[in-house]
This record gives sequence, C-alpha cells and structure tokens, in this order.
Amino acid sequence: EAIVYWMRMQDMRIHDNRALSQASTQAQKDGIPLLVLFVLSPQDYIAHDRGARRVDFILRNLTVLKTLLAEMNIPLYTITHSPRRTLPSRVVSLLSEFKAAHLYGNIEHEIDELRRDIQVCQLAKEASINCTLVHDKCIIAPGTVKTKEGKTYTVYSPFLRAWAPHLADEPDPLECASEVHANDPSVRSNPHIGKLFNCSIPNAVEGFELDEHDAEIMRTCWPAGEKAAREMLDRFLRTKARTSQLGAVDPLAPGASEPTRSPEKGSRVAKYKDARDHVDADTTSRLSPYLAAGVISARECVRATMEYSGSKKVDLSRETGIGRWVQELAWRDFYTHVLALCPRVSMGRPFLEKYANVSWETNEEHLQAWKDGRTGVPIVDAGMRQANKMGWMHNRVRMIVAMYLVKDLMIDWRLGEKYFMEILIDGDLASNNGGWQWSASTGVDPVPYFRIFNPYTQSKKADPTGEYIRHFVPELAKLRGDDIHNPPAKTAEKLGYPTPLVKHDEARQRAIRRYKNPGDE
Ligand code: FAD
Repeated sequence: EAIVYWMRMQDMRIHDNRALSQASTQAQKDGIPLLVLFVLSPQDYIAHDRGARRVDFILRNLTVLKTLLAEMNIPLYTITHSPRRTLPSRVVSLLSEFKAAHLYGNIEHEIDELRRDIQVCQLAKEASINCTLVHDKCIIAPGTVKTKEGKTYTVYSPFLRAWAPHLADEPDPLECASEVHANDPSVRSNPHIGKLFNCSIPNAVEGFELDEHDAEIMRTCWPAGEKAAREMLDRFLRTKARTSQLGAVDPLAPGASEPTRSPEKGSRVAKYKDARDHVDADTTSRLSPYLAAGVISARECVRATMEYSGSKKVDLSRETGIGRWVQELAWRDFYTHVLALCPRVSMGRPFLEKYANVSWETNEEHLQAWKDGRTGVPIVDAGMRQANKMGWMHNRVRMIVAMYLVKDLMIDWRLGEKYFMEILIDGDLASNNGGWQWSASTGVDPVPYFRIFNPYTQSKKADPTGEYIRHFVPELAKLRGDDIHNPPAKTAEKLGYPTPLVKHDEARQRAIRRYKNPGDE
C-alpha cells in the first residue's frame, strides 16, 4: 500500500504544503510509503493559455523537487497525459497500480480543475481509495470570510477588514516529515514504487518548447526551487533597491548585479510604501512567479514579515512598508476568493454583467502593435517589451498597459488577459483576471469606467527619471525631460519610433460613450 500526494502546478514545494504534510503524516501513521505524482497536461495548458515559459518553469521546479524528494526517499513520478478528458481515469488507474490507499491534493479553484477533481474523487471512491483535497493556495481559505448577508465580498477594503483577524488562526509551518521518510529506505525496494525513482522529468512538453535564448533569460531572471524563492524573499526584506540604474530594473542588463546587503532600514520592504509604484527602480519583491507556482507559500511570506518586524502580530498598517506589502498579499487572496466563489469569472464572463455588451474594436493591427510594444506611447511600449523579454512586468505598468488596450484602443479585455497568460511567467487566472477586470471596469471593486488613466501623466509619475522607458525602448534613449514620456512627432519620426495609434483625448471620450450605453455603438 502507499499514500499518494498529487502535486499540481500551483503548489510546487515541500515546505509548508498542507496536502503534502497531511499525506506524510498519514504515511507515517500507517507505516507505508509516500509518493508524489505530477501530471503534465498539455491540453489543459492550451485551454488555459499557458505559455511555454510557465511550462518550462514547472519542469525546472520538478527537476529540483525530484532531487530533494529522492533525498527523503520519496519518489516523484511525472507523467504527460492527453487528452485531458481521460485524465481522471488515468490518475485513478495509476493509484490502483501503486496500491494507493489514500490520495491527497491541494485544491485548485479554477472551474475545470474542480470538475476534474470531482471526477477523480468519484472514480477513486469506486476503487476504494480515499481522497482528501485541502485548501492551501490562499492565506485564508476561500469561504472563511463572508459579508453579514453571507455573501462573498466584492469590495476589497471590507474584505481586508474581515480577513485580517483570521491571520491569527493560521498554523505554524506545515512540515513534511522529511527525516522519518529519509530513515526508511524500504520504499526503494517496494515492487510497485521503488522503480519510480528512476523515472526522469521530461526536458520539454510538446508544443511548449522554449528557444534556448528565452530559456536562458528565464533561468537567469527566475531560477527554480524553494531555495531561490526564499532568496528572493530575503532580497526583498533585507537588501536595498538601487534607484535609477538600469541593472536594477532588468537583471539581464549589462553590469546588473545584486546590491550588497544593507541595514534593514533601507531595504526594499522598508521603502515599499513610497517606492512601490516607481517602475524605474527594482522596488518590489518579484515573488509573483514563485507564489503563482506555489514554490513558496503566501503564509510563509506573512510569517517572514513578522520575523522581520520582531512582532507576534501581522502588520497591516497602510503606514508601513511591511503593512502595505501584506495588503498586496491580501489582494491575491481576495481575487482567489472571488474566483472560487463566483466561478463565472473563470469562464470569460465579466463580473458586472451589465458590461457584457460593451462594443469592442476588432483591430488586429492595433492588437499586434500593443503586443509588440509599438503603440507610440513610450510607457506602454516599455511595459510590453519588458513583459516580452522577462516574462514579468511591474504592477503599475500592468495597470497602464491594460487600461490603454481596453480604454484607448477599445479592444476586448479578454484578448489582453489571454496574451498576459501566454507570456507571463507568473500567469495566475485569479490575479490576472482580477487585474484585467479591474482595468476594464467590469470586475469586483473595479476602477469606475470614466476614470481613465492618461498614459502620459501616469508615465511621469511612475517613471519620473525616464530610465525605465530608456532601457526598454532604446530608440528613445537619447531623449531627455518630458519628451521621453511623449516624444514630439518629428523627433519620434527621426528616431524611427511609431506615432501614437490613437489620440488619447478622443479615445477617452469614445470609451466613456461606449461604457455609458453598452451595446449602443
Ligand atoms: P509585490 O508588490 O512584491 O507584491 C507581493 C505579492 O502580492 C505578489 O507577488 C502577488 O502575489 C501579490 N500581489 C501584488 N499585487 C497584486 C494584485 N494587484 N493582485 C493580486 N495579487 C497581487 N499577478 C500575478 O501573480 N499573476 C498574474 O497573472 C497577474 N496579472 C495581472 C494583470 C493585470 C492587468 C494587473 C493590473 C495585475 C496583475 N497581477 C498579476 C498582479 C500584480 O501586478 C503582480 O502580482 C505583481 O506585479 C507581481 O510583482 P511582485 O511579486 O514584485 O509584487
């Protein structure tokens, strides 16, 4: 007999992993081996717009995990399965092959994954295999906090107020009993399981191969594994951001190197409250790829903030860097709670149904120019080029480029959402959908439709030095002063930089008209 933990693409870690910890406890109690299963499902990746970078990040993390788990005498068995409709029966037949008594997994809240898991549980029951699926992704489980009327919060501030007291309920780190497993080598001679130690992790998934250049960039910017994630967290809490240096924004820039450790007073998190919206410096944690793939738990991030402040209470103040950062982690929980409790947002529907019929422009040229970073609006182009290069973009710029696509170009937000999922290494349905529906004014707690970002004003605020634009839009590198934010037409032409696709003021009026009377135009 054996206990199986089914790892998914959102919980790729050993430390503080609820399902793994429970599976490990059960295996010890029953005195039977524990094994980890991972299923690569290309059809799901296609259906969910997963890009090659995200899939490559899965494979790199699996490689690290395979070694670490093997050191504990826990095999990690990875299979690639198509078609996705037969995935539940394949999983259950594997469980039978392993003589599994119990399957453990962490819940994925997206609708397709929930349906898949329901089927798995039904089939497992027929085969007399127990299933336990637990909440793990958020700090507080979806459904824990509800309005007085028993409904899901759809506004962030009251959600935060209701969410905060529950932080105290969170347990200490949930450990996998690594030493106990490590001291029991008998699993290696188990006839059903021992051979799994020799199965390797595939180098690629067909249809999701990264070219070597891109792969090298991803490895440099986003090394795999829990150790790398913890170093990223440590870098945020204990090292200082260098302002106005290209290397600070782009780890790929020549001469980019990590700043030396600095007193905590000057660390990134200490300055986060004021500096987080500055895109010309590397001021945020850059943990999103690790949180999205579950390489680090959000609970561990909160605990680290408590350790940093030397306090037993979580700081949630708007006045401190730590407090502001924990509030960002709360946004992650908020959007996942919404996704879990209002499944229509994971089916391409606007949360506010009244905006379902806004009339969108169909303009392939404009959409492509936006994707390529050739819109003629420097901050938008810098952001899109950063994402195309690094697989990541600063939050403020995500908001600017999203608002520009939806309100200035009047292109359906779902096309932007899809492109982000394809190129970002931190693509996460709940946060991405939340961000897009915020910008499109169709979501929970969105920006009102008439409050439209002026990309030029936003640019001056977010990139006051212009360094960010200069770095990612090198054609404009020589421009100084305000010209960098909105180059004069003649200068732009000389530099080979495109003229803006639309005039912002006219586009703004068009968007307001269309949102006011959806379906009219
Ligand atoms: P930090 O500022 O250090 O924040 C710490 C963590 O808090 C982040 O890693 C993230 O997990 C969470 N967080 C921060 N801001 C938000 C937010 N607004 N919503 C939800 N969680 C947040 N985030 C993703 O993880 N995946 C996505 O696919 C994604 N798509 C987005 C699309 C749009 C249009 C917008 C406006 C935002 C999107 N975000 C997404 C949220 C946010 O931009 C990123 O989480 C953030 O930029 C990541 O950088 P960081 O790790 O340095 O963040």
